[in-house]
Amino acid sequence: MRKRLLTLAAAAGLLAATVVVPAAPAMAAPTFKVPFKCGQAWSGQTRTNHSPAYSIDFNRTDDLGDPVVASAPGTVDRVTDLGGTSYGKYVRISHSGGYHTYYAHLNGFNVSVGQSVGYGSVIGYVGSTGGSTGPHLHYEQRLNGSDIQIRFNGALALYWGTKTYTSDNGCSGSSGSGTVNTSGTPLTVRSGPGTGYSSVGTVADGTRVTIQCQTTGTTVTGTYGTSNIWDRIGSGRFIADAYVHTGYDGFIPGVPRC
Ligand SMILES: [Zn+2]
Repeated sequence: MRKRLLTLAAAAGLLAATVVVPAAPAMAAPTFKVPFKCGQAWSGQTRTNHSPAYSIDFNRTDDLGDPVVASAPGTVDRVTDLGGTSYGKYVRISHSGGYHTYYAHLNGFNVSVGQSVGYGSVIGYVGSTGGSTGPHLHYEQRLNGSDIQIRFNGALALYWGTKTYTSDNGCSGSSGSGTVNTSGTPLTVRSGPGTGYSSVGTVADGTRVTIQCQTTGTTVTGTYGTSNIWDRIGSGRFIADAYVHTGYDGFIPGVPRC
């Protein structure tokens, strides 16, 4: 937030807000990115006889062994080898809001179950394991278990056909920063983007924070006004943007949505 609108009354409001425990709010879709390193161009194919239907198969020249990168921040919840059938070696990542991403036919793994990953995190390597006839990455996005049409940076993938996708995943400048301003009171850090999530610590007034991504959650009135934007400052660590000086009134340009 940018405008300083409120002072001591707002700080008192913070203390009151922290004891209110509403239901956890619905969360927006994460900002998914192309699952390869920053700047790489990959050919992505969709086809009506694919299983599941909305999957993308990615290729580029000599792609065997190329690193595969997490599409969005999340927690690895499967690192599985199905042998010579189906996905073969695959990784699944759990994201906020009931979303999962799948990365299949991998040649090898670079993560383990329970690991937190962010943009640019290498999770494995392109291979041809399972029911695959040549090296490629089979990639899926799912919501509450159901195959969904894939989006990168909010833009729908090409259905049906083949298109070149250039990655901006993990490119520098994709995080932001800000300074906590509470007029003295430590700011509560929550496990999710809202006052209904559990407290997982505090940050002191004046702390400079790195903002990995931003999302919407419960509305909070703070030092810089009233806002429903929450800033992710670590894995499972969110603070209300209403108390953070970022130089912007809304979302910070270039910083992804969580
Ligand atoms: Zn496939």
